[in-house]
Amino acid sequence: MGMNVMEALKKGTWVLKDKNIPVPRLEAEMLMAHVLKCQRHDLYLAADRELDNTQTQQYFILVEKRSSGYPIQYIISRREFMGLDFYVDQRVLIPRADTEVLVEYVIEWTSGQNSDLHILDLGTGSGAIAVSLAVFIPGAYVTAADISPGALEVARYNARLHGVQERITFLEGDMFSPLSCCPGIRSFDAVVSNPPYIPSGDIEMLEPQVRDYEPRLALDGGNDGLWFYDRLAQGCTDWLKPGGLLAVEVGYGQSEAVKSIFKSAGCYQNIGAAKDLAGIERVVYAIYIPSTDGRWL
Ligand code: GLN
Repeated sequence: MGMNVMEALKKGTWVLKDKNIPVPRLEAEMLMAHVLKCQRHDLYLAADRELDNTQTQQYFILVEKRSSGYPIQYIISRREFMGLDFYVDQRVLIPRADTEVLVEYVIEWTSGQNSDLHILDLGTGSGAIAVSLAVFIPGAYVTAADISPGALEVARYNARLHGVQERITFLEGDMFSPLSCCPGIRSFDAVVSNPPYIPSGDIEMLEPQVRDYEPRLALDGGNDGLWFYDRLAQGCTDWLKPGGLLAVEVGYGQSEAVKSIFKSAGCYQNIGAAKDLAGIERVVYAIYIPSTDGRWL
């Protein structure tokens, strides 16, 4: 005897709950919508619909997979960010809501600027930041770099998905290094990054869902977690226009350390931080002001 949508949802919820998945009903519905290729809110209209054997089997395989801790976003290959749907798979870090604070800050900063803006996104991953900036800032030309070729494939796909591929240039390489190989690339109005910032020694203490499935390359920020901020502060002196913005996401409790890194570089002013909804400083920003006599201020 087959099961209908509602019965399968109830059972799926129960299985997920039993394995301590935090929002079991919601996730049971997300998996069902994925199997039936519909929206989650459509499920209620289809509550009495009989599932065929393949659908039932497919659904409970996914429920089992999720129960084992595998992230739901990788199962359904989707994650919403800035109100946009992004494709994700295990080649990229799953975009976090925290990172919207960075994107929103940059959008706000650019609203006072001239129309054509060149923005560099370092460590673009899924392209969530680069693509959102291109979508929400119509005059933005984004250069998005990543050391991972797999991540760049995902990011390129997301750019096409949102129709902004003409305004994003993708480059493969470590931090600023691919830029020097591109003669057409000039300096930027803004450099943004959500670099890896988890101290290497803390990786094993992350939630298993993050630790076991998300790319280490996107998480490991070196001994103190601050390695990339130093490189960003130094590298931007070659690539930011005077008056340009450097804005980065930082981990919990890292904002003061990152502000000091920017301060001690000697060429940034208006250093500050933007908070997330929980009041945590999530974004550190600074304006690049080189001294006019060729020495640091
Ligand atoms: N915010 C991610 C986490 O806490 C880490 C992302 C990063 O290192 N940039 O798992």
